[in-house]
Order: sequence, then C-alpha cells, then structure tokens
Amino acid sequence: MTEASRALSESLQAAVFGHTSGAVLARGRGYVKRNRVTELRVSAGRIRARVLGSDGERYRVELTAPQTPAPPVITKIRWNCDCLYAAEHRRGTCKHVVAVALVAARRFERADALRRRWMGGAAAEAPEAEPEEFTALAERLLAAFTAPPVSAEDVLVRAIAIAPPPFSVRETRV
Ligand SMILES: [Zn+2]
Repeated sequence: MTEASRALSESLQAAVFGHTSGAVLARGRGYVKRNRVTELRVSAGRIRARVLGSDGERYRVELTAPQTPAPPVITKIRWNCDCLYAAEHRRGTCKHVVAVALVAARRFERADALRRRWMGGAAAEAPEAEPEEFTALAERLLAAFTAPPVSAEDVLVRAIAIAPPPFSVRETRV
C-alpha cells in the first residue's frame, strides 16, 4: 500500500462517515461482509456501484468529488443513492452509500491504479473488473486447458463454455 492510496482511502471514509450515524455505519459494514456491493467502478472524481438491498432491489450508488480535478485527499464528498431512506434523509448517508465507501476505500488501498483512475489518469474511464470475476475466469481457463481432451468436439465444447460464440453449437460441431 502506498502512502497516497492510504491517504485517499482514509479521507474517503472520514468524509462519508462524518455524515453517518452509528447504526447506519454498522448496517453498511454488514452489507460489505455479505458482499452486497457489486459493479464498483472508479473514474475521475467518481465512484459508482450497485448494492443489493435487503428487499432484493439493486440500488445505484454514486460518490463524487465536488471539485475538478479530483483531490488526492478527500475533504468533501457528494453521495447519491436511489433508495427510499436516501430520499427521506438528505443530510445523512444510507447504509448503501456506507457500504460502497468501505469497499472503495479497501480497493484504493490494494490497487494504486484505482487511485490514479480517481485522480483522472489515462485509464480513467476503463471499467474496474471485480477480483472475483478474474478468479472465476482463471479457474474456468485452468479447468479447460488442463483436462485431457477426449475428442476435438470436447475441445470445442470447452472453448464454448469459456466464451460462448454467436452461433449455434449444434451446427458447428466438428
Ligand atoms: Zn441507499
């Protein structure tokens, strides 16, 4: 972890938690533990994610820096969530916003590339793939390439399982 990424991570949490009640903070932490934050994306001065609510609804959360360019240390942050609580409590954050801030803070600490994206670096608009997505793909590739092929068809079927092609499998059997 670099000093810069730690500073960004800690300042993000401080900026959000300054508007969070203890009860909401605890619920937000619970959401992180249960992996309810998905599709986290960071771009210049902006963090976006989806949070799976207790009602099964996927809420859209956005955290943005009020100034451009985005600061290396956050002092003020704007938040937005499309849940009902957020609509009724404009001054305080909801648990979804807290959960996204926690996950983003952790990712900032782990990947300096993400901090550079926040700062508006070259890859600022590139989507941030979930670590789990990489792991799942790596596992599928490993299984496909290490199992001994029984037939050419077998190889094709495995290849299709990794990346489904835009045609029918039945018609292209070898
Ligand atoms: Zn919310």
